[in-house]
Amino acid sequence: MSQRIFNFAAGPATLPLSVLEKAQSELLNYQDSGMSVMEMSHRSKVFEGILNRTEADLRRIMGIPENYAVLFLQGGASLQFSMLPMNLYLKDKPVDVIHTGVWTAKAIEELQKVAPYTIVASGEAEGFRAIPKLTPDLFNPNASYVHMASNNTIYGTQSTQFPDTGAVPLVCDMSSDILSRRVDVEKFGVIFAGAQKNLGPSGLTLVIIRKDLAERASADLPAMLNYRTHIKNISLYNTPPTFGIYIMGLVLQWIDEQGGLAGIEARNEEKAALLYQAIEESPFYHCPNAIGHRSKMNVVFRVHGNQEDLEAQFVKEATQRGLNELKGHRSAGGLRASLYNAQSIEGVKALVEFMKDFEKRNRV
Ligand SMILES: *Cc1c(COP(=O)(O)O)cnc(C)c1O
Repeated sequence: MSQRIFNFAAGPATLPLSVLEKAQSELLNYQDSGMSVMEMSHRSKVFEGILNRTEADLRRIMGIPENYAVLFLQGGASLQFSMLPMNLYLKDKPVDVIHTGVWTAKAIEELQKVAPYTIVASGEAEGFRAIPKLTPDLFNPNASYVHMASNNTIYGTQSTQFPDTGAVPLVCDMSSDILSRRVDVEKFGVIFAGAQKNLGPSGLTLVIIRKDLAERASADLPAMLNYRTHIKNISLYNTPPTFGIYIMGLVLQWIDEQGGLAGIEARNEEKAALLYQAIEESPFYHCPNAIGHRSKMNVVFRVHGNQEDLEAQFVKEATQRGLNELKGHRSAGGLRASLYNAQSIEGVKALVEFMKDFEKRNRV
């Protein structure tokens, strides 16, 4: 491959080319420090500057209020499935869960080991092809918190609205749509995300937590699993994923160049509309998900009659054209194109063009 592909992977995923080029230009000697960010003490002045600026930029871009802490952790979004109930569960107050797919199933698996819970709404009966309808009466006013995922990476559905959970904190897994649109942070008790979809490289986990919620945890929790440890030490209790934080900082600067979240949101809407329109207009392709519930980040689609051999052929030929990673997740089947922030409009246009061509050659 002599040039870069259009990478439609679900994560780790494509990054803005300008971010990679900037990192490349600074790789050996970061801003006259004489060394790479990778080689730098996490307690050095230079790295402190990177960390502070990354946090400040994120706070400004997302509108994160002062009473929330921004934490740069490790262990992936998956460790949060355990840390959340360990820190936030209050005795005799079961956790409410909105079950929308594979990632909430994983969260439920971990909840099972730590705290009682209630599945208050589930899309399972419909094969997770729609987000269940959420009305305020579903929620227990005495719950410790409500767990949900805003975007379902594998099935390709996404919430357009967030439930009103009253005084009960809403905890949201935004791994696959964080920074893809504007959200009101104050609606949430906790927002968390693995970095490898919309924020940067893998190995970094972002947690945005209302500080009072971190006071719930028992002091007996292992230090690394207690949010208070990381709040108190501003993510420097131990060595944080320094290079990942640096790249995330560059991604935030790139977001500013795109016109902030409003600009990013408009771009994401344009990309998703292009692809869904191509799917809708064609009798050859279809999207199995309910209209109004379809993800703008992960577009799941199938070919006519769900012919698996033809889908395999589609993936193979697309790859030959530099359109990579279009195979659906093994648990959902079919095809999936991930259109995270860094996916370009050119990439989506190239995919649509290929789809038309493939259809022409394979239509019966
Ligand atoms: C990718 C993903 C995860 C898992 O993230 P890790 O960082 O690999 O643990 C969790 N939730 C959602 C919604 C995801 O898309």
